[in-house]
Amino acid sequence: MKESGANIFRGGAFKPRSSPYSFRGLGEDGLKFLASARQETGLPIITEVMTIADIEIVHRYSDILQVGARNMQNFNLLDEVGRQDKPVMLKRGLSATFEEWLLAAEYIMAKGNRQVMLCERGIRTFESYTRNTLDLAAVPVIQKLSHLPIICDPSHGTGKWYLVPAMAAASVAAGADGLMVEVHPAPDHAKSDGAQSLTFENFSLLMERVRALSRIAVGKPISAALG
Ligand code: PEP
Ligand code: MN
Repeated sequence: MKESGANIFRGGAFKPRSSPYSFRGLGEDGLKFLASARQETGLPIITEVMTIADIEIVHRYSDILQVGARNMQNFNLLDEVGRQDKPVMLKRGLSATFEEWLLAAEYIMAKGNRQVMLCERGIRTFESYTRNTLDLAAVPVIQKLSHLPIICDPSHGTGKWYLVPAMAAASVAAGADGLMVEVHPAPDHAKSDGAQSLTFENFSLLMERVRALSRIAVGKPISAALG
C-alpha cells in the first residue's frame, strides 16, 4: 500500500461491531501488530479508541486517535481525547447533521486539542443497496463552515468494494483532503468488512486514478490515503 501511495496505516484493535458475535478486534495484541507494521513501513498508525478506559493504551501505540461514528456524540470520550496530545480523526455519526458533527469536534478542541480532522463515512438513508449513503456535499460544506481537514471513507460509505474507486475519485474531485480506504490481501477471508475491502491490485489502480484526478480536477496533491 505504501508503494501505491498510502501514507498512513489504519487497522482496528478495538472494533465497534453491530453484532456482539462479530470479530471485535485483538485488543492490545492488535495494537502490537499495528506497531510492528509501523516499524516495518515507517507509516504512522491510526486506530480507534472506543472508551475513555482505552485511551491510555491506544495513545501508547497509535499516532492518531480515531473516534468512530457510533461514538461521535460520546461527549465524555470527546472531552478526554481533547486532552490528548495526538491528532484525532472524528467520524461522522450515522445520522448526524453537520452542525452536530462540528459541535462534536468543538468538544475536542475546547479541551485544547486543535488537531482534529473529520471523516465523512456515509449516513443512514432509505437506500439499502449501499451500506450507507456517502454524503459528498460534506466536503464543500465542511470546508465552508470550518478550517478542519475533511477525509472521505468510501469503504464504509458504500459497503461494496466495486463502488469504492468511483466514490474515492468523486471525493477527490469534490476537494477532499484525504481518503480512508479499506484494503485486504484476501478480502473473502477478512475477519471484518471484506465486502468493502480492495485487493492490493485494485488499491493501486484506485491510487493511479485518484492521483491523476487530483492534479487535473482540484489542482492539489491528495494528502492522505489510508489502508
Ligand atoms: C471503522 O472505521 O472501522 C468503522 C467502524 O467505521 P465507522 O465508525 O465509520 O462505522
Ligand atoms: Mn471497517
